[in-house]
Amino acid sequence: MNAPHKHTIHEGQSHFGWNNANKPIVTVKPGESIEFHPMDASAGQLSQKSTTADVAKLDFSKVNPVVGPVYVDGAEPGDAIKVTLLSFAPSGWGWTANIPGFGLLADQFKEPALHIWKYDAQSLVPAMFGPGGRVPLKPFCGTIGLAPAEPGQHSIVPPRQVGGNMDIRDMSAGTELYLPVEVKGGVFSVGDTHASQGDGEVCGTAIESPIALAAKFDLVKGANLKFPRFTTRCQGLRGDHGHQPRSDDGRQGGGERNGRPAVQALQDAAGRGLYALQCLRRPAHQRNRRHAQLDRVVLLPARGVRVNPAGRPRGVAPQEAIDIGAALCGRPLLA
Ligand SMILES: [Zn+2]
Repeated sequence: MNAPHKHTIHEGQSHFGWNNANKPIVTVKPGESIEFHPMDASAGQLSQKSTTADVAKLDFSKVNPVVGPVYVDGAEPGDAIKVTLLSFAPSGWGWTANIPGFGLLADQFKEPALHIWKYDAQSLVPAMFGPGGRVPLKPFCGTIGLAPAEPGQHSIVPPRQVGGNMDIRDMSAGTELYLPVEVKGGVFSVGDTHASQGDGEVCGTAIESPIALAAKFDLVKGANLKFPRFTTRCQGLRGDHGHQPRSDDGRQGGGERNGRPAVQALQDAAGRGLYALQCLRRPAHQRNRRHAQLDRVVLLPARGVRVNPAGRPRGVAPQEAIDIGAALCGRPLLA
C-alpha cells in the first residue's frame, strides 16, 4: 500500500454473511480511503502447508469472511456508494481447491483437489502450475458489497442487488464500482481476494490469496441504481494480467496489445498437455485485424482446441472455455 489512508481494517475485524445490524468498524466521509486486510476465503483454515485431506475438513460456516463493515457518512437508500479500488498488495501465496459438492461442475469433478500457489508478489509474473502452466495474475476482490435492506443474517455466497460475492475479475486496481445503497450508511464490507481468476469461478475457487487493498469512498446522491455498475481503468482492455498493452502484430502503439507474451504462453504450454487459449477482442472503432487486442490468456487442457500458426485458437468460442479453475481440475473442459 503506497499511499497513507485514513483508516485500516484488519483481518481480525472479519464477519461471515451480510447483516445491516452489524456494527460499523469505521465511519468514513465521502472522499476518504481505507486500507483493508482481508483473510483468504478459507478464513485461515487452509495454509501454505495444507494438503488435499484438509479440503474435506473445511467448515463451510466459516468460509468467505469479509472485513468491515464501513459506514459511509450521508449515504441513504437510493444513493450509490462509489468505491474506487486504489491498489492491491498481494501476499505471494494462494490456494485453489476442488471442493466436493461445490461449484458448477460438481457432478463431474467429485474428488477433492488442492493446489498451493507461490507467486512473486512484487513482479506478478505469471504463476507456475507444474513445469509449463503459466497463469497470468491480476489481483482483485471477489466479494465486495453493501448490506441488504432486508433484516437478519444473509449468506455470503450469492451476490445481490447490493453486490457481494460477485467474483468479477474486473474488481481490480483502477476500477470504480457503484453500489446501490439500501440502508443508511451503506454498511460496506470486502474480502475473498483472488490473485487470478477466469470469467466465472467454475470450480468454485480462484487463486484464493490473502491480499491487502485500499479503496476510496464517494457518494452519488439519488443514483437509484438497480444493480451494481462499474467502469474499468482501460475501457475495452480487460485483462492487465501483467502483459503490456500493445498491438497483436507485435508493434507498439497507443492502447494496443502485444501478442508476444501470448505466443510465449502457447509455446510454453505446447506438449505439456495444456493449451493456452488467447482471447482477442476488437474495439468497435477499429475493424481491421491488426488492431485486435489481447484480452487474456488462459491455459486449459482442452481436447479440440486447435491453434493456428498465428497463435489464435480455431473453432473455439472464448466464452466456451475460459475458466482457470476448471483448467486446474486437470480434465478436458471441451468434449
Ligand atoms: Zn474466492
